[in-house]
Amino acid sequence: MEGVCPIDQRFASEISALVTPPSPLQVQEYFDELLSTRQCCSMKVKQNGEFGKCVYAESNFTEGQLVLKDQFQQSSNKIDCLVCSFCFRFIGYIELQIGRKLYLQELGVSKGCCGTDSFDEEEDSFVENGDSSNPCASSSANDRVSLLREMVESLMNGGLQLSYSYKFSLPPAIPCPGGCGEAYYCNKLCAEADWEMFDSLLCTGERSESLSKEALLEFIKHANETNDIFLLAAKAISFTILRYRKLKATQLGKKDKTPNVSRCTDLSLLFEAWKPISMGHKRRWWDCIALPVDVKSFDEAAFRRQIKALAFTSLQLLKAAIFDKECEPLFSLNIYGHLIGMFELNNLDLVVASPVEDYFLYIDDLPYPQKDRDDQATIIALKPICKGEEVVYLDNL
Ligand SMILES: [Zn+2]
Ligand SMILES: [Zn+2]
Repeated sequence: MEGVCPIDQRFASEISALVTPPSPLQVQEYFDELLSTRQCCSMKVKQNGEFGKCVYAESNFTEGQLVLKDQFQQSSNKIDCLVCSFCFRFIGYIELQIGRKLYLQELGVSKGCCGTDSFDEEEDSFVENGDSSNPCASSSANDRVSLLREMVESLMNGGLQLSYSYKFSLPPAIPCPGGCGEAYYCNKLCAEADWEMFDSLLCTGERSESLSKEALLEFIKHANETNDIFLLAAKAISFTILRYRKLKATQLGKKDKTPNVSRCTDLSLLFEAWKPISMGHKRRWWDCIALPVDVKSFDEAAFRRQIKALAFTSLQLLKAAIFDKECEPLFSLNIYGHLIGMFELNNLDLVVASPVEDYFLYIDDLPYPQKDRDDQATIIALKPICKGEEVVYLDNL
């Protein structure tokens, strides 16, 4: 695989400069400036030779107070809940959150997230053993499945309203302005910010500014089937390209943000656009990835070659989708490997406070008589249940 990427050869010195870690002074200046421009004076980033960068509180935080917001999210936790694609707030309404989660659970996470699709389109995948053409399937199992479908569908389309859900109102889900039907936002500002920073190149909708929607869909499919860390790397590349175009447009003193192949790369602007990414600790993915337990140590070299080849395939798909001649060094395998390695090494878990959980806690805490009187049973019989029969219920929300 060595030397397989021609961009790496052509831009060797630029790429080496891009992946060289900034000096401790540059890092300190960058984070001090970042925190001051975001008027975040209650935190400070300090460097420690042994542990890297650490965040320290400069004032007290009360429980529940916002500490910081992040902008990169992997799709596996997006599937768990419907949140704003930019700020991660829960959006929609309680019934939609519950219905969507049930729907996706039955569908299997690998099917992707398409919260508003009708069951009819995915009929085969929703049911494990409810195939009506199967003469062996019991009619009660089929009844149960169709009742479940109905219930989940009416939760998602607003037909079924759960008691007290009005106490946990959420901002309405605003669809992505690109028309992809994948990303949703809590308000217009979040939608616009995401569009400008990441999504205009990576959106699969009608207004997408990618070179080829088909290529983009293929890239996303490959990532979902292999490793969704590629989606984060694509987001980082898209972010840098869009930032570069914006910086260039500002420098040229006009608003034209469309790439012009006849213009040559302005390296200083590319470095400036890359600056936020340059601050992240990185190593090449295939060098730093931990060896899975089922890979024997003598297979290590072959395993790392495989990982590198996988990244190369993903990169070619991404290149077909969003390539920008002026930002060509970003499409080198070395850069892609470092970006993926950065996400691998800085693996953060993001936990979003869930109003759905709060809702269930609220219902659980209601006194029993009230639950009964208000028809508050959280277990609904979907078919007649005989004495002594097992009651199968959905409790895994
Ligand atoms: Zn938002
Ligand atoms: Zn979109």
